[in-house]
Amino acid sequence: MIFGNARLWLGGGSFVPGALDVDRGVIRAIAPHGVRADVDLGGAWVVPGLIDAHFHLQQMGAALRTVQLADARTEEEAAARIVEAARDLPRDAWVIGGAWDDNLWPSRRLPTLASVRAITQPMIMTRVDFHAIWVNEAALARAGITRDTGDPIGGHIVRDAAGAPTGVLVDAACDLVSRHVPPERTETLEQDVRRALQCCARVGLTCIHDMMMSPEVLRILQRLETRGELPLRVRAYMHGSTPEVDAVLRESPRSDRLRVMGRKLFADGALGSRGAALRAPYSDDPSTTGLLMMSQEELTRAAEQTHALGRQVAIHAIGDRAAELATAAIIAAQGPGVGDRRHRVEHAQTLAPGHFAVFAKAGIVASMQPSHCTCDLGWAVARLGPERIKGAYAWRAFLDAGVPLALGSDAPIASENPWDGIRSAVTRTGAGGATITPEQRLTLEEALVGYTAGAAFASHDDRLGALAPGQLADFVVIDRDPFAVDAERLAEVRTLRTVVGGVTVFAQHS
Ligand SMILES: [Zn+2]
Repeated sequence: MIFGNARLWLGGGSFVPGALDVDRGVIRAIAPHGVRADVDLGGAWVVPGLIDAHFHLQQMGAALRTVQLADARTEEEAAARIVEAARDLPRDAWVIGGAWDDNLWPSRRLPTLASVRAITQPMIMTRVDFHAIWVNEAALARAGITRDTGDPIGGHIVRDAAGAPTGVLVDAACDLVSRHVPPERTETLEQDVRRALQCCARVGLTCIHDMMMSPEVLRILQRLETRGELPLRVRAYMHGSTPEVDAVLRESPRSDRLRVMGRKLFADGALGSRGAALRAPYSDDPSTTGLLMMSQEELTRAAEQTHALGRQVAIHAIGDRAAELATAAIIAAQGPGVGDRRHRVEHAQTLAPGHFAVFAKAGIVASMQPSHCTCDLGWAVARLGPERIKGAYAWRAFLDAGVPLALGSDAPIASENPWDGIRSAVTRTGAGGATITPEQRLTLEEALVGYTAGAAFASHDDRLGALAPGQLADFVVIDRDPFAVDAERLAEVRTLRTVVGGVTVFAQHS
C-alpha cells in the first residue's frame, strides 16, 4: 500500500517530497515522489506518529464526564458550577470533578468548605495538578476527619488558625477521603478509556505512555486489543505496589499494541500546592520544603524490586530534593554506569546545578512536559526564587548534558494536543507572551524528536519514532509545514489523518 503525494519529515529542518510504501503494518520503503499512490495525501505534510511519554488515559476520559473547573475564574464561580451539578445527582451520590486552580483566581487562596455549604452530598474536586482535593463537610464526615485527625506521612490537612480542617487535603492526605468514594463500574471506565483514545487519535497521537495504570484499566485495554478495538499503542506503567500489580509486572504479555513497561513511583508532590520536595525552603513560604511521598529507603527498595523483575521504574520527581532521591534509587537498583533499562524520572522539573550530569552518567531518561512550564510560569519563580528557577523546566540543559529527553503532556492536567506541547517547547511563552529562562527553549526539530524518537526510546520502542524502512507504520498527516509557521502558531497545526500500523484510525472529514 502506497501513501503517496506527500512531504515527509525524515529529520532535520524541512520536509521532502515522497511516499510511504507500507506492507503489513510496517514501512517497507520510502518511495520516490510521483510514484502511483493507493492513498493520495494531496501534497500534505507527514510526520512520524506522535508519542506522548506521560499520559493518564482513564483520568482523561473521566475528566470529560465529571464537573470541570479549569476555566472557573473565581472560587465562587467554581462553587456555583459544583452546586449546579450536584442538583442533578441522587442524594447519596458523590459529586466528583476537578481541575480547579487557585493560582488563576484573584484571591490566590485555596478554596474552603464555606463556598460549598449548599451541597448536601459528599463532594471531591481534584486540583488541576492531581496533588490536592477540595471537599465539603459531608465528605469530611464520611471520612471521619475532624480537628483531631493527624496529618498522614507525606500529606497534610489544610487547617484554620484554630486547627479545624478548611476543606483542602494535600498529597497523601487525599486518600483519607478518596478511599471512601465508591469505585467506578467497569463499563464507565471502559467508556472513559474509549473516549480518551478517540481524543488522542484526533490530535495525531499514535502511542501513549500511561503513567498511572491500574490492573482494572489494563484488563479493559487487553479486552479492547483482543477485539481489535484498541486504535493506538499503549505503554503501561503500573501504579502501586500491591500483589496484583506485582503479578502484572511479572507475567503480563507484551504485544506491539499493548505492553506493560514498568512501575510508576512518586517521590514527591507538585509545585503549585507546595508539595514538591525541595532541598531548601520555598522562596514564598520559608516554613516548608515540601513533601516527600516515600523515604529514600522505600524508594530504593521499590526501584530494586522493579528492576529485579526486568522492568523500568518511572519516578515522579518535581522538586530538586525529590530528583536526588529518584536518581539515587535508580543508581542503587541498576548499579554504576549507564544501565540498559532506560529507567525514567517523570517531570524532572527542578534540578540542582550538577545534577544533570548524574542523569547522563546513569543513562536515566528525563520525561518532561513542556506545557507545565508555560502553564506554571505565572507563579513558578515565586515558589523557587531567581536562582533555582534556572534549573527548572530545563529541557535544553538536559539535552546539552547528553540526557535522553522524552516529551509528553500529562493529560488531562494539560491539553493532550501534542502541538500545544511543541509550541510550549519552542516558544516557552505563557499567557500574554510572558516567559522564563528563554535560553532553555528547544528548536522545533528537537521538540519533534522529543515527541517521536525521544519518547520511543523511553519505552524501548526501537521500531517507533521515525519514517524509515523497518519501522512500524505509524504516521500523522498534518495540514501545514510546521517549519514555515510562526512558532507562536504551532498549536494551530491540525491533524488530517492518523495512521497506526498502516491503518487509518482518524481522518478529518473534508
Ligand atoms: Zn502525571
